[in-house]
Amino acid sequence: MTATKVVGPKGETRTVPEAVARHVWVAAGGRCTICNRYLLADNVTGQEVSIGQLAHIVGWSTAPGSPRGDHELPVEQRNSAENLMLLCHDQHRVIDHKSLWEVFDVDTLRALKRSHEERIRKLTGLGHEKRTTVLRVAGNIHGRPVELNSSSVTTALLANNRFPDWILRGADEFEIDLRAIPGEPTSSPAYWAAARSHLEDRLMHLCTQVRKEAVNHVSVFALARIPVLVLLGTYLDKMLQVDIYPKRREGKTVWGFDDLGAPVRFSSELLRAGNDPSRVAILCSISGSIDINRLPSEVLDSHTIYELRPTATLPTPELITTQAGLDQFSQAWRTLLSTIEVDHPGAPAIPIFPAVPPAAAIAIGRHLLRAAQPPLHIYDREPNSPGYFFTISTEA
Ligand SMILES: [Zn+2]
Repeated sequence: MTATKVVGPKGETRTVPEAVARHVWVAAGGRCTICNRYLLADNVTGQEVSIGQLAHIVGWSTAPGSPRGDHELPVEQRNSAENLMLLCHDQHRVIDHKSLWEVFDVDTLRALKRSHEERIRKLTGLGHEKRTTVLRVAGNIHGRPVELNSSSVTTALLANNRFPDWILRGADEFEIDLRAIPGEPTSSPAYWAAARSHLEDRLMHLCTQVRKEAVNHVSVFALARIPVLVLLGTYLDKMLQVDIYPKRREGKTVWGFDDLGAPVRFSSELLRAGNDPSRVAILCSISGSIDINRLPSEVLDSHTIYELRPTATLPTPELITTQAGLDQFSQAWRTLLSTIEVDHPGAPAIPIFPAVPPAAAIAIGRHLLRAAQPPLHIYDREPNSPGYFFTISTEA
C-alpha cells in the first residue's frame, strides 16, 4: 500500500496527490487519529511495516454504499487534506462499518481529526525551528477579489520544508482581510485610510507575538494594492526572519518563488535635477514603466527625480521570479535610499511611484529605515486614469 492511496469500505482504492497525502500524514504525526497507534511499525513484532491508511471523512462518492457520502461537501473537494484522516486499518474498518456510520458521523470525525492534529502539532512543535507563522494579506485589486486558501498556503510551505502555525488567524479565518473594505475600485481616500487602519490594527497582534518570542519566522502570502503592501513591509521587523511567497502566474494558484530563473539586476538613474535639493521623488519601473509625464504637477515641477529599473532589460510583470531576483532588487533599493540620504539631506518626504510586483512592494517598505529616512508618500494609478494620485504615507 503506497502512502497516496485512500482505501474505501470494500478495499477499493483512490489515489490522491502526493502533497495531499503528505499533508495528512504530517499533520497526524504518523499516528492513528483515533487510537494514536504509531503507524510505521507493528506493535507486537516491532516489524517496520506501514499500517496507516488514509480515510475519507465525507465518503468519496454520493453513492449509497459510501460512508457519510450523503453530505453537502462537493465531490471534487472530498480528496482534499481537510477531508482525509490518517487511521490504522482497524479503526478504519470501524468507522466505515455501516452499523457505526451514525456513531462516527462527519462532525465527530472532524472533531477527532482537529484535536489529534492540534495535539501532534503542539508536541512536535517543541524546539522546532522549522515552524513558521503564516501571514496572509488578502485585498481586492482593481475590483477583483483575491483567493488565498489555507491548503495552498500549506502546500507551498511544505514544499519549502516549513510547517505552518496559524496563531495570527482572526475570526474571519484570515490574518489580514481587506476585501470587505469599500471604495477600493475607485481608490477613494476613505479606502486607503480604512485599509491602513485595519492593517495596523492586525499587525499589532504580530508585534505582540514577536515581543513574546512566540513568533520568530514569518511567511507572507500577500495580494493587495501595492501601497498597502509597501506599508505592510514597514511593519515587518528588521530582526524578524521573513519569507515572501509571491503568487505565480500559472494556471492554478501556486505560491512561492521559482528555484531557477534568469538573473536580473537593477540600478537607479537620475532622470532630472530639481531646483530644491531637499525635494526628491522616485519612480520604480519594475513590472512596468512609469511615464514621467503622468506625475502630478506638485512633483513634476519641483522635484529631483530618480528612477529604479532593471539593468539591460525592459520592465515586465514577470521580472522577479526568484529569491535572488528579489534580493537584487532590495539591494538596489537600499543603495538608492542611501544615495538620497547623502545627496538630499532634509527631505521631508519622498513621493514614490511604484510599478512593482507584490514581493518588491513589501521589500520597499521593509528596507526603509523608518527612524532615519524620510517617509515615503506612495502614489498609485487606476488602469484607465490619466495620472497618479497620493494614497498612503509610511509616516508612523
Ligand atoms: Zn487506530
